[in-house]
Amino acid sequence: MKLKICGMKYQENIEAVAALKPDYLGFIFYENSPRNFEGEIPKLPSAIKKVGVFVDASVDFIVEKVKQYDFKAIQLHGNETPRFCQDLQGFKNLEGLDLELWKVFSIKDQFDFNRLQPYEGIVDYFLFDTKGKEKGGNGYTFDWSVLKGYPSSTPFILSGGIGLDEIEAIESFKKRPESKYLHAIDVNSKFESEPGVKSIEKLKKMISNLEGFKNLQGFKKQPMNYQVNEKGYYGDFGGAYIPEMLYPNVEELRTTYLDIMNEPSFKKEFDQLLRDYVGRPSPLYFAKRLSEKHNTKVYLKREDLNHTGAHKVNNTIGQILVAKRLGKNRIIAETGAGQHGVATATVCALMGIKCIVYMGEIDIKRQAPNVARMKMLGAEVRPAKSGSKTLKDATNEAIRDWINNPVDTHYIIGSAIGPHPYPDMVTRFQSIISEEIKWQLKEKEGREHPDYVVACIGGGSNAAGTYYHFLEEPSVGIIAVEAAGKGVHSGESAATSQLGKEGIIHGCKTLLMQTPDGQITEPYSISAGLDYPGVGPLHSHLYKTGRGEFYSVTDDDAMAAGLELSQLEGIIPAIESSHALAIFNDKKFRPEDVVVISLSGRGDKDLDTYIDYFKL
Ligand SMILES: *Cc1c(COP(=O)(O)O)cnc(C)c1O
Repeated sequence: MKLKICGMKYQENIEAVAALKPDYLGFIFYENSPRNFEGEIPKLPSAIKKVGVFVDASVDFIVEKVKQYDFKAIQLHGNETPRFCQDLQGFKNLEGLDLELWKVFSIKDQFDFNRLQPYEGIVDYFLFDTKGKEKGGNGYTFDWSVLKGYPSSTPFILSGGIGLDEIEAIESFKKRPESKYLHAIDVNSKFESEPGVKSIEKLKKMISNLEGFKNLQGFKKQPMNYQVNEKGYYGDFGGAYIPEMLYPNVEELRTTYLDIMNEPSFKKEFDQLLRDYVGRPSPLYFAKRLSEKHNTKVYLKREDLNHTGAHKVNNTIGQILVAKRLGKNRIIAETGAGQHGVATATVCALMGIKCIVYMGEIDIKRQAPNVARMKMLGAEVRPAKSGSKTLKDATNEAIRDWINNPVDTHYIIGSAIGPHPYPDMVTRFQSIISEEIKWQLKEKEGREHPDYVVACIGGGSNAAGTYYHFLEEPSVGIIAVEAAGKGVHSGESAATSQLGKEGIIHGCKTLLMQTPDGQITEPYSISAGLDYPGVGPLHSHLYKTGRGEFYSVTDDDAMAAGLELSQLEGIIPAIESSHALAIFNDKKFRPEDVVVISLSGRGDKDLDTYIDYFKL
């Protein structure tokens, strides 16, 4: 049985899908389709046959496309007559082309097999699709038992709404007599994160779960690589786009961070502090009532129980130890809501190192309790008074400071963002989260790999840590939840993957919310920690390759999910984490799925927002 993946559209995604080495890749030429293909097809392994899909196109148009794209098969999806198919065969013979001809028949609940007769001997394959409003891509299957007693000997392709839920049905179909003529399975919309973007993770799941596909070569031999490369890139994203004057500082870090992190004495000190100071391992808690409510198995990774109330401290502990080994005696940081500022001030107090936190003047007013915490911890909070007087301006001030103090100062960045090596360094420090999930799940479920890991994304550090040890494990689905604010298209959101375009922010190339002329858009979310106009480069890569499924959740849905967790489990989550918990509105899990959600922080800091919102 062969596999066709149809509705390919975007270069990068085509390449990622091709790495799985399916037998066929389909390209649709139909202007009414959201998957209508234009542009170039990247060079593909020759074992993959490219299929052109047409709906009542002219012979000339089809011939032109066959020549342009070197199609090895054409799929006719309209009302093409037997005569028309014969003309195409004539062309094929004339040109001596190796070209398969597929004719599509749509089936609803029944099918008159007499309709196949006039095409017998003229086309090479029949393709049975579901009859629906659209020409393909309807997303639901027809009842395959209609094919019982299949009267033809022309092999066929099954299509229409095939997804992971159909795996069992395919396996049982293969036991039926008519499956002798089953040539291939054709998949499309059920494997998409949006029209034309295929989810690699889901496709891998399909391939690994279907006996008939177990031998698809690319699957095992060419695992995708989600690690940063030597130049600091994840695919197209990352790098170090920094002013010349910052180069020595970043270069010092780049050339030393891995060696430092790999020193046994470093590891020992880091592990000890995580255990005795932060309180790790954080529990992996089976949320029984939440699981019952959503009819799946939900585990919460309790980063909210860490010292200082969130995951951020994992990173600041790691970075202060790096700073010490680099001989730095002064720490700077930027902060928006103040959470990262507090986590940094905390570790500076712990180590007796001077700490300066840059914070927008407006944020200082909005986040008075965190400013007080930082001061109490002995840090100096310096207001950024330029521009919009928020996070962006605080970052600029911090960078200016670092340029002026390159020798004695280390800059602690608070998320998986910034110039290389920051995204990788922060991800590695946060990867303790997935490292623990693996052994904790083994203890509780007898297996290391959950079916899904879910995390909210601001810059993406708790998410990166939650995904890290599962990135190259195709059976683990990766789910990212962004803040949709008042709605993705309301103009007040932080749904970066949906709205963002490639751009440069804080020293790296990544997806970024910006105006058409490249000005960074002011983001909005009810949760201060997700209120960021970019995402870390790893996440842009996960989005673009389809490895991660991205969702965005509105303020209202997040707040409701926060209240739900409070009342079902007695845990008041940070509003950031409430976004991850709202995944159940958008994604249906199976009862047997093990879903691990990163509970990135506790809700104490958000109490005022909850009070205002729910009029408590
Ligand atoms: C800061 C913060 C976030 C967002 O930051 P990431 O780098 O995306 O993880 C999420 N949750 C909590 C509780 C936070 O404090």
